[in-house]
Amino acid sequence: MNNRLYGNLIFELSQPGRRGYSLPKNRFGNYEIPASLCRQKEAGLPECDEMTVVRHYTNLSANNFGVDNGFYPLGSCTMKYNPKIDEEMAALPQFQNLHPLQPKETVKGAEAVCALLCRSLCELTGMHAFTLKPFAGAHGELTGLMVIKKYHESRGDMDRRLVIVPDSAHGTNPASAAVCGLDIVEVKSLSDGTVDVDALRNLLDNVDGNSIAAMMMTNPNTLGLFERQIPEIEQLVHAAGGLMYYDGANLNPMLGACRPGDMGFDVMHINLHKTFSTPHGGGGPGAGPVGVRKGLEPFFPEVSPYHGNFAVAMRAYAYILSLGREHIKEVGPLATLNANYIKESLKDVYELPIEGVCKHEFVFDGLKDKSTGVTTMDVAKRLLDYGYHAPTIYFPLLFHESLMIEPTENESKETIDGFIAVMRQIAEEAKTHPDLVKSAPHNTPIGRVDDVLAAKHPVVTWRQLISPLS
Ligand SMILES: *Cc1c(COP(=O)(O)O)cnc(C)c1O
Repeated sequence: MNNRLYGNLIFELSQPGRRGYSLPKNRFGNYEIPASLCRQKEAGLPECDEMTVVRHYTNLSANNFGVDNGFYPLGSCTMKYNPKIDEEMAALPQFQNLHPLQPKETVKGAEAVCALLCRSLCELTGMHAFTLKPFAGAHGELTGLMVIKKYHESRGDMDRRLVIVPDSAHGTNPASAAVCGLDIVEVKSLSDGTVDVDALRNLLDNVDGNSIAAMMMTNPNTLGLFERQIPEIEQLVHAAGGLMYYDGANLNPMLGACRPGDMGFDVMHINLHKTFSTPHGGGGPGAGPVGVRKGLEPFFPEVSPYHGNFAVAMRAYAYILSLGREHIKEVGPLATLNANYIKESLKDVYELPIEGVCKHEFVFDGLKDKSTGVTTMDVAKRLLDYGYHAPTIYFPLLFHESLMIEPTENESKETIDGFIAVMRQIAEEAKTHPDLVKSAPHNTPIGRVDDVLAAKHPVVTWRQLISPLS
C-alpha cells in the first residue's frame, strides 16, 4: 500500500557505493588486521543514505497494527493498552541499570518495590504471601503445583498426585501438572460453559480418597464466565484432602470485585503481563507471581535466579500505584460493562451460543445467518479493512466459528460504538456483497496470506541471490 518509492526490503534499496555516514580519519597510525581475521568477500550489506533508511523503517513500522493505532479486541489476552507512565517508571536508570550481583545495600529501592508489590497483590487477592520469581503464567502454575506437592509430602501424603482440570482450562494447566510429575484428570463442563459439579462429585466418589492433590480452576474461565459454583467445588475438593489452585492469568475483571483468597483458594498465580501492564504481544517478557494462603509460604521453591523479571514487577507496581486504591476498583466493572455492551449490541446478527452476563470477554459462534457462506475468518479479515484488529478467532475450540471479543476497561464508548457499527456493517455486507467480505482484506499492504504455508515453511531471512563478489 504505502511502499511508494521504497522497496519492501532495505537490500532492494541498496545502491553500490551509497553511504549514510563517513568515519573520521584514522589518527592512530596503521594497524594491519591479520589476514586470518579479514573476510574473503564483501559482507553484502545494504548501501543506503540515511534518509532512505529512516523513511524505509518509518514506513515499515506504519504497516503494523498495534493498540496505539486502534481498537484491538483480541480475546483471551486481557489488558492490551499499557499506560505510558509504567514504561517510563520501568525505564528509570536507577532501576533499569541495576545489576543482580551488586551489593545488597545499593538495591534497597528495588527491594522495596518488590516487597510493596507483593503486599499490594496480597491485598488485591486475599492471599497471605507472594513470590515474584516465576517468569510467566505457565511458570507460575508449575511453581504453585510444586508448592502443593511439597505441602502434601510434608504431611507424609505421598500418594496425592491427581490434579483435576476442567475441560475448558487453558492448555498450560494440564501441561504444568505433567511437568510437575503429577497426573491429570479432566472434569466436564455443562452446556453453559461452567464446571459440572455433579461430574466432579462423581469423579471424587470414584477415585482413591488419598489421591487428590489439587483442583485447578480458571476464573473467569476461558469462556469469560464467572464460575458460580466455586463454594460447592471448594468444599468438595477440600473434603477430599486436595488444595484449590486459582489460575488468575486474567484477573482484571475481578479487580475490586472479589478475591480468590476469600473464595477458599489456597494457591494462585497472576499474569502481571496480562493484568498489570507490560506489553506481551510478542511473547514476553512476563511474570507469573504465585500467591499462597498462610502456612504454605515455606514451600515456595527456587524457580529462578535473583528476583524474577524485575522490570515487569516495576511496571505492575507503577500501574497499581497510578490507579490507586480508589480507581483500581473500577477496572473489573468497566472491563465487564464494555464486554457486555458489545455482546448485547451484536447478538441479533452474530450467534451467541452462551447467553447471560459475561465478565471481560465473550464468544460469538460466527454470523447468525449461516446461509451467506461468510465465515469467522472472512469477518476477521474484513475488520482489517475498517482499521480494526481482528478478535481472537477459532478459539476456544468449543464452537466451530468462535470469535472471541475482549474490549478491556480502557476503551471509550465512542470507540466501542464505532466497532459495533462496523461489525453490523460487515454482517450486512455478508448478505448483500458476500464476495466483498470473502475476498477481504482489500486495504492492507498484503491480502490473505497462506497461513498454513507461513507456519510450515516460514521464510524469515533474506538471502542474496547473487553475491556481489562471487
Ligand atoms: C495466558 C494464560 C496462561 C499462561 O500464561 P503465560 O504467561 O502465557 O505462560 C495460563 N492460563 C490462562 C487462563 C491464560 O489466559
